[in-house]
Amino acid sequence: MNTAHQQPDSPHGGRRAVVIGAGLGGLAVALRLAHRGWRVTVCERHHTPGGKMNRWTHGGYTFDTGPSLITMPWVFDELWQAFGARREEDLECVQLQPHAEYRYPDGVRFAYSTSMPEWLPVVRELEGGDASGFFRFMALGARLYALSRATFFKEHPRFSRPDLASLRALRHMPWRQGFGNYHRVVESHFRSAHLRQLFDRYPTYVGSSPYRTPSTLSVIPYLEYAFGGWHVRGGLYRLIEVLLRHADRLGVEVRTGCGVTALERRAGRVRHAVLESGETLEAEVFVMNGDPSTAPVLLGEANAQPLPEQARSLSGLVLLLAVKGRLDGVQHHTVCFSADYPKEFRQLFDDRRFPDDPTVYVNVPSRTDASMAPADGESVFVMANAPAADMAWDDRTVGEARRRVMARLAASGFPALEGRVVAERAVTPADLAGQLAMPGGAIYGGVSHGWRGAFLRPANKDPKRPGLYYVGGGTHPGGGTPTVLLSAAITAGLVERYEGS
Ligand SMILES: Cc1cc2nc3c(=O)[nH]c(=O)nc-3n(C[C@H](O)[C@H](O)[C@H](O)COP(=O)(O)OP(=O)(O)OC[C@H]3O[C@@H](n4cnc5c(N)ncnc54)[C@H](O)[C@@H]3O)c2cc1C
Repeated sequence: MNTAHQQPDSPHGGRRAVVIGAGLGGLAVALRLAHRGWRVTVCERHHTPGGKMNRWTHGGYTFDTGPSLITMPWVFDELWQAFGARREEDLECVQLQPHAEYRYPDGVRFAYSTSMPEWLPVVRELEGGDASGFFRFMALGARLYALSRATFFKEHPRFSRPDLASLRALRHMPWRQGFGNYHRVVESHFRSAHLRQLFDRYPTYVGSSPYRTPSTLSVIPYLEYAFGGWHVRGGLYRLIEVLLRHADRLGVEVRTGCGVTALERRAGRVRHAVLESGETLEAEVFVMNGDPSTAPVLLGEANAQPLPEQARSLSGLVLLLAVKGRLDGVQHHTVCFSADYPKEFRQLFDDRRFPDDPTVYVNVPSRTDASMAPADGESVFVMANAPAADMAWDDRTVGEARRRVMARLAASGFPALEGRVVAERAVTPADLAGQLAMPGGAIYGGVSHGWRGAFLRPANKDPKRPGLYYVGGGTHPGGGTPTVLLSAAITAGLVERYEGS
């Protein structure tokens, strides 16, 4: 296959854009703009690029410290096409089957498979012989997906009048079910407490509670079921590595250890970024990949403050465990559910504390990808939701949270890990907050509670601050890797429309 790429023409005469942050969205928008002829500099405050999508290696063990599952793989393909390359020449994406194993406190456990012949007998058994609720729930997700493609996954409503396709799609909106409460809609489709808990977990994909999100989020389980959950061979950080290689090819300058400490205006327009070193960069366009709420702070505006606690999506406590010996029978993804789901979310969102009994997600990529661990070991990523609160995570707090995580794993019959861990690292909400300047370590920006929280996220072009744009999980259309890439496409399109000539 021919991998030679043409350097694009420079229709903007090399006009300059500065991207603040080398997260997935920051790199994606940088590549899109560079391919259209912009001279792009990416400034990343941390010493490695990738933002939340990062990597830790130790003695032959490789860990993704952030995302461990991608959905909507064609969004990744579209990005590659947009900068003149082919994703399949760079990365191997592997669809996981079964998708995950679910374990419940009462001892019930089953594999969630996207293969109908395997999955339907499980649903029937759990639902008393009747799988119709599952099909109705997926049909609702499918209708919402068709609608999202025509509306929500496009530009923020502030920048686009609805076109004919959007209006046509809206005629098919399942108004009552699409805007009800997510948990109640799940309840109305499933009798089984196990399936209710399984489907109630999906709003946590955007850091939110199933009891407070609109049922429009039922598009998420549909997307995962219909299009699968994917692993990138070598780990998801390969995505960042390859994007950096293309950035180099397209002349994008990526600077690490390069925090932007202030933004300055000239003639009413954002014109300069001041760096930690004291250096100043001048540009026509600035794209903020950090949390949008931090941009007015960088501009020194009166009353500007980062995202307040009650508006933040969830953070997480991650334990990276280099385990000696194989975990035979364990799947690539396992979820061990807590005994009282409503209580877990009350503790996360009302009490803003780490739950007494957390639901624990375990990702063991070495089960399907031998490159992730030595032959006699497993790289084990363990994650529990945590509040994005402004609290310190000292050794005692981490130790107590770790004890609860291990207790849940043991109670769920997960193979014993203690005594087999040869190296370990914890990533806390405070680490995410400190390293990446994410308020409270919120993983998905603003929380998707209520209709406004879910659908009216900050627009990709700042309506009040000319020259300032946003990309990433904190902006429209929302957190999670595919939507972050959609935001990069939307933002690059807006830059082209408003700054193109
Ligand atoms: C533990 C964990 C698990 C996850 N699991 C999944 C998953 O399984 N599937 C999925 O799809 N998503 C998952 N996510 C979410 C996913 O990682 C994010 O949606 C995505 O990576 C965010 O990309 P972003 O473009 O918003 O940038 P971010 O990753 O938020 O990066 C923003 C960058 O901006 C930099 N920055 C901020 N302010 C400044 C400044 N002033 N100057 C310079 N640089 C600055 C930060 O340092 C950071 O590097 C997970 C995240 C975490 C943390």
